Amino acid sequence: METDAYIALGSNLGDREVNLLTAVAEIGRLPDSRVTALSPFYETSPVGVSDQPLFFNAVLRLATGLAPHVLLTRLQYIENAIFSRTRTIRWGPRVIDLDLLLYGNEVIDDEALTVPHPRMMERRFVLQPLCDIAPDLVHPVLERRMTELLAGLTGDEIVKRI
Ligand code: AMP
Repeated sequence: METDAYIALGSNLGDREVNLLTAVAEIGRLPDSRVTALSPFYETSPVGVSDQPLFFNAVLRLATGLAPHVLLTRLQYIENAIFSRTRTIRWGPRVIDLDLLLYGNEVIDDEALTVPHPRMMERRFVLQPLCDIAPDLVHPVLERRMTELLAGLTGDEIVKRI
């Protein structure tokens, strides 16, 4: 059985476009999985630690037979092994960041994984590309469409389509 998972990608170090494209390709190679939609890429202002380079962000949909925790472990493997990512400052610069936003309508909250991703509804750099590929998708906890969540954002962070 396949489930639609939504994954957010971000990069603000090195060649950000190549980093996103490489991550999309690696995610597409996961077993029992296919990338079925990819948003445009956006250049966005950093949230949290603001004194750092601008991010490139995108969201993709993956039809996958992998269980949610297995998928998360695979995403972390891509972050760490493929990109040799080392953890330094929380919310600081990174070559690639992969977040599991949604896994079907499942609601999970344990030590390793929280889905829906707990901060997705506050972030324009997530909701804008998510709305490009799944505007009518309903958040399984908030029971609101992604377009409604995006319209409700008040912050002034810059999210520029590239
Ligand atoms: P970050 O440094 O932002 O990539 O955070 C990674 C940490 O968040 C890891 O310890 C994950 O186990 C945890 N985590 C919990 N829920 C999620 C999720 N939905 N997507 C990605 N990481 C998650």
